[in-house]
Amino acid sequence: MKNLLEIEHLETLLHTGNAPVRAVDGLSLAILPGETFALLGESGCGKSMTALSIMRLLPAVGEIVAGQIKLNDTDILQLSEMDMRTIRGKRISMIFQEPMLSLNPVLTIAEQIEEVLNQHLQLSKDATRQRIQELLEQVGIPDATQRMHEYPFQFSGGMKQRAMIAMALAGEPELLIADEPTTALDVTIQAQVLDLMRQIQRRTHMAILLITHDLGVVAEMAERIAVMYAGEIVELASRDDFFHRPAHPYSQQLFASLPGKQKRDQALTVIQGSVPSLAQQFNGCRFVDRCNQALAICHHTVPKWYPATSGSHQVRCHLYLDQQNVTKKPPANNA
Ligand code: SF4
Ligand code: MG
Repeated sequence: MKNLLEIEHLETLLHTGNAPVRAVDGLSLAILPGETFALLGESGCGKSMTALSIMRLLPAVGEIVAGQIKLNDTDILQLSEMDMRTIRGKRISMIFQEPMLSLNPVLTIAEQIEEVLNQHLQLSKDATRQRIQELLEQVGIPDATQRMHEYPFQFSGGMKQRAMIAMALAGEPELLIADEPTTALDVTIQAQVLDLMRQIQRRTHMAILLITHDLGVVAEMAERIAVMYAGEIVELASRDDFFHRPAHPYSQQLFASLPGKQKRDQALTVIQGSVPSLAQQFNGCRFVDRCNQALAICHHTVPKWYPATSGSHQVRCHLYLDQQNVTKKPPANNA
């Protein structure tokens, strides 16, 4: 199958302090039509900046300095802002952790969805009203005919999240980017929202790029997983490989840091140390200061990609330089 989205060597800088922060540093990934692909990592590792780069909605201090983002065969980084507007909402939509980032407090829910519809589809007034109602019903808003005329503040947190999803789906996108879509919601509502996304995906065959720090959400939703650390991807795996045979020491330590048997249902807890500053150039592995399996080489040589348990399971770590090392843990200092 042909990829829907292909990101190649994306580099996104944030011009904040003295030196630019390399928020996304040479990231490549590909998403198939209809699949759910998770980008997993701690906060501050570049997940959201990756999403905002795809949408071309970076904050004013953000700048994409290299790479390609191809939607089918079009490099959307080359498009004018005008052309990009025909893609945003229509072919790629995004939902955020905080619905108020995308809901306008001074417009009713119906007015906001209508804006999206008017941008992308030529519908009559009646058909527009009909479509808004359908969308709100689809995301499980009760009494949609009445409630569509309410303002965001009249909706509960879960309802706002649903309204935002309805808005994101209005243009029938091929790719939905969901950045921590359920983090702010309580557990029951969280399950409902994930379930809703899955149902809609089954119906429309849209792909989902799920951005999360929550292993439970990944286990629930993702077919493939990219683990992101300090601006780059360090492991690429199927759900099965990731949960049964995590290959990168970072992934392994994430699992090890979770308490007891509820591993799949827990958010990532903090492992020792913190993500290094991304304002620097790295000469070795970015994870070396926190890695419990570091070798001497890790301090002065940037690791390449290697196959882990299978060809599609890839890992960026010196331990896999020799395939024989795949199953046995090498001695601590044999560079
Ligand atoms: Fe650890 Fe070295 Fe692998 Fe980095 S390259 S994760 S420091 S073993
Ligand atoms: Mg984020």
